[in-house]
Order: sequence, then C-alpha cells, then structure tokens
Amino acid sequence: MPAATATHSATSAEHRITLLGIDIDNVTMAEAIDEVMARLEAGLRTRLLFVNADCVNISFRDAAYREILRAGDLVLADGLGMWLAGKIRGATVRDNVNGTDLFPRLCGRLAGTPFRVFLLGARPGVAEDVRTWIARHHPEVVVCGVRDGYFPLEQSPQVAATIREARTDVLLVAMGAPRQEAWIDGNLEATGATVAMGVGGLFDFYSGQIPRAPRWMRDWGLEWVYRFAREPRRMWKRYWVGNFVFMWRVICHRPLKDRPAEASST
Ligand code: UDP
Repeated sequence: MPAATATHSATSAEHRITLLGIDIDNVTMAEAIDEVMARLEAGLRTRLLFVNADCVNISFRDAAYREILRAGDLVLADGLGMWLAGKIRGATVRDNVNGTDLFPRLCGRLAGTPFRVFLLGARPGVAEDVRTWIARHHPEVVVCGVRDGYFPLEQSPQVAATIREARTDVLLVAMGAPRQEAWIDGNLEATGATVAMGVGGLFDFYSGQIPRAPRWMRDWGLEWVYRFAREPRRMWKRYWVGNFVFMWRVICHRPLKDRPAEASST
C-alpha cells in the first residue's frame, strides 16, 4: 500500500509536551502502539523516534539530528531520564515508551495483519537471529527481509530498493543514534515503508547477542547501569558524563532562540 504524506504528529495536542526544545508525544505504550497501527491502516508515512537522555545530548551538538527530531511524526519519551526531566520542568511524562519494550508488543499486534516487517541493522547475522526470535514468538508476523547495518552510505539507494522490493510496511533500523535516524530521514521515501523507527541496540538484545537487564532493573529505570556494567569502555562516557550533562541541561535549560519555546507545562 503506498504511504500518504504524514501530518506532523497525529496525537492530540493535550498529549504533547516540549522538553529541552524537543516536542514529545506524551503517550503511553498502549497509545503509541495504537497510533502505529492506525498509521499503518491509513498508509500514513511515519518517522517514529525514541528520545532518551543520550538522544537529547546528541541533539544539542548535532543540528541535523535536532531538525530530524523536530520533523518527527511520532516522538516518544524513552527512559527514566525523560521522566525526571519532566518532573524537574513541571511536566508529567506519562510512560517510558522505549523501542525494546515496544517491539514485542508491536509484534503481537502485527500478527495476523498484512503488514510486513523489514529488519535493517546490527552486525551480519544478528537481524537473521531476530527473525528467528519473531518466528518463534510471533509466527504470524511476516518478516519480509533482513540486512545488516554495515554498508557504505553510497549503497543506501540499493538497500532502500531492496526494502521497497520486499514490500515493507514497518521498517526497523538498528544502527544507533543518530546514524539510524539520519538514514531513515534520507531514505524512507525510497524504501516505500509506511512506518520507520530507529531502534538502537534492539537487535542485539532479541538475537541474544547481549542480554537485557533483569526485569527489576528495567522497572526501576536502571537498564543503563546494567549496560554500563557490561560494556564499561564503550558506555562510560555516554552514561556517566552523558547523564551528568543531561541533568545539568534539564536544570539550567533556557530555550535558545534557534529552538522552539518551552511549552507552558515545562
Ligand atoms: N550499528 C550498525 N551499523 C553501524 C554502527 C552500529 O548497524 O554502522 C549497530 C550496532 O551493531 C548495534 C546498534 O547499531 O547493534 C547500535 O547499538 P547501540 O548500543 O549503540 O544503540 P543504542 O541502543 O544505545 O541506541
């Protein structure tokens, strides 16, 4: 089904807040999935973005990424940091809507529908393992293609063509932020997919390459501590420096003139 041009965010204005210059669709996990399904049904081309503390930090140093966030069709608050930011800025972030928890729920909703899923990203072989996970847990979901995320950018038109030929409706891109968002921004049209989302390390988790934090850590918003403990060399800067910088920004942020004004609720 060809996708129509998306409107900016279909969620109602009462559920939109602005935090650190980023407009967030302040929806629950269930509402986010309803919205994705509605957009698939309507054929509404949609760039879905998960925004966590690290993404906010990236948006402060990467103007192109900031623009992509601004133009997002569905922008979701991911993680404890966003909730804390809301608390400090006087807004209630209603839920932790992260890709890793959304993914199995979305698979549950896609089962038995005609909507087809393409998995793009991670190291060679990993997306295949995610396809196996889907086949085991949600056998009715149609995975129409997989491909690793390590290709030269000049090959993007061929990759997009492969995704189009697979008649993709839902495109998951697991190449890390902001690479995955930039790829979606530049190639979504060419892929023909209706809904695309950047999902970071999700394929590594569902393929079993990297174990997820235990349930209690996730429930307490401590998944980042677990990820840091597993990969300290890669993660120390992102989490220890990043979280400090993020909190400093939350406390001190004044809208700059090149950023949209904070909503009255923040
Ligand atoms: N990745 C990729 N292509 C690249 C660089 C990274 O496909 O050029 C993949 C990488 O293998 C990993 C994911 O992108 O599966 C990024 O994971 P990360 O933990 O950085 O993402 P996060 O969940 O923290 O956003």
